[in-house]
Amino acid sequence: MTPATLPRELDGKVVTSADPRYPLLRSTYTRAARPAMVVLPQTTTDVAVALRYARDSGLPIAVRSGGHGLSGRSSNDGGVVIDVSGLNEVRVLDRRTRLVRVGAGARWAEVAQALAPAGLAISSGDHGNVGVGGLATAGGVGWLVRDYGLTIDHVRAAEVVLADGRVVRTDAEHEPDLFWAVRGAGAGAGIVTAFEIEAIELRGVAVTQLALGVDPDGSTLSHWAECLARAPRQLSTAAMLMSDGRHAVLSLTAVYAGPDVGLMRKAVAPLLAIGTVLDQSVHRVPYSGLVSTAHLHPNVGQQPTNTTNGLLPTMTPDAARAITAAATGPRPALLQLRSVGGAVNDVAADATAYSHRDSNVLVVGTVFAPGDRAALDRLWRPVAAHTRGAYANFESRTDAAAFRRFYPGPTGDRVLALWRQYDPDGIFRSALYSGELS
Ligand SMILES: Cc1cc2nc3c(=O)[nH]c(=O)nc-3n(C[C@H](O)[C@H](O)[C@H](O)COP(=O)(O)OP(=O)(O)OC[C@H]3O[C@@H](n4cnc5c(N)ncnc54)[C@H](O)[C@@H]3O)c2cc1C
Repeated sequence: MTPATLPRELDGKVVTSADPRYPLLRSTYTRAARPAMVVLPQTTTDVAVALRYARDSGLPIAVRSGGHGLSGRSSNDGGVVIDVSGLNEVRVLDRRTRLVRVGAGARWAEVAQALAPAGLAISSGDHGNVGVGGLATAGGVGWLVRDYGLTIDHVRAAEVVLADGRVVRTDAEHEPDLFWAVRGAGAGAGIVTAFEIEAIELRGVAVTQLALGVDPDGSTLSHWAECLARAPRQLSTAAMLMSDGRHAVLSLTAVYAGPDVGLMRKAVAPLLAIGTVLDQSVHRVPYSGLVSTAHLHPNVGQQPTNTTNGLLPTMTPDAARAITAAATGPRPALLQLRSVGGAVNDVAADATAYSHRDSNVLVVGTVFAPGDRAALDRLWRPVAAHTRGAYANFESRTDAAAFRRFYPGPTGDRVLALWRQYDPDGIFRSALYSGELS
């Protein structure tokens, strides 16, 4: 197909391989790529123009906000990347209702920094360089997740460029089906250019870091899950299982949604009894110190990994044993655990496109052999048997089975129907998944 003529609106906003900025824009966090061009829209209208141009060119399209997507699908080889990082405004719309407008191209560190002077925060994820667009269209399992819920649970409206170039505002009253899809399955519905999100009052958080010896029989992980099930909602934890191939250490970060170190110590005390404490620290930081601008960096394919995940309603002894065994296997792998219960489970399973509302544990597995899919399968098979469903954002796999793990049963049927309605030619879903979805 002959390339379409570049529209005048995009003058100066297109980066090709001859441009000195290209090396810093072509790739994602997990994938080195060589797109034909990266378009850098500055407005929502620019996004619509870029999308029409890309469609007319007949080139594959990738949509990028922060470039941290684990499947690496926010860039491509030979196609057009629509990179919305220029749409990064963060503005408090109403301090009383704590409503904030957040551009999809902002990084979460920028959001935390912009909201700090107002004493507000939005629970997002653990890393400040992750983009708003990718995270807030799929979930958002953050440091305050048990207290605040998922990021999508606080999205009140979104501005979306649809596949045909139309710009719509969607909320509970306007295009309600689209609003349902945007909160959990937004990537296949359109390009979100901005969200309106309800923030929380937050003057700081208390953080505990612990290193615990892990019992090979899985009991440390079982106790971790039991402690979290009983802990006040203000406590959320993320943990990495590190191993030398024989022994594992749980490197755990616990965050208390408030600045009171005394309350944190009380909430975290039961966790000190679940294994041999190898190291411990407690401190108070502003939320913007946790999701920090120190994380900001360009994405140049620096982390070529293969990642998958699964959700667990409860951590059974068998699941705990399987996860511990996976972490201490012969090949280098990283297993991570997140708490996802609390406020996440207050929301009805059919209220948004993220339906896993009975899960309490998220387990994520990563291998550092991106070309070797079998390595991930070997790691994950014994763990997968204990999981039910998965979170779309901690996943490198792009097949139809992965889609159904993210969006099981009637949720998946509704997601697919809406994606087909809003994007009849499948330009967004073909950028996300390999093969037909059903
Ligand atoms: C180091 C690291 C830490 C992470 N920590 C967390 C965490 O704590 N909690 C958590 O929930 N997740 C976490 N994630 C996962 C993260 O949520 C996803 O990778 C997310 O997709 C990244 O968003 P992004 O905008 O940076 O990604 P991108 O790579 O820019 O986008 C990923 C995909 O999202 C879609 N997309 C992007 N922008 C838009 C848009 N504006 N409109 C519609 N669709 C869009 C596209 O299909 C794209 O392929 C982490 C990832 C990494 C690499």
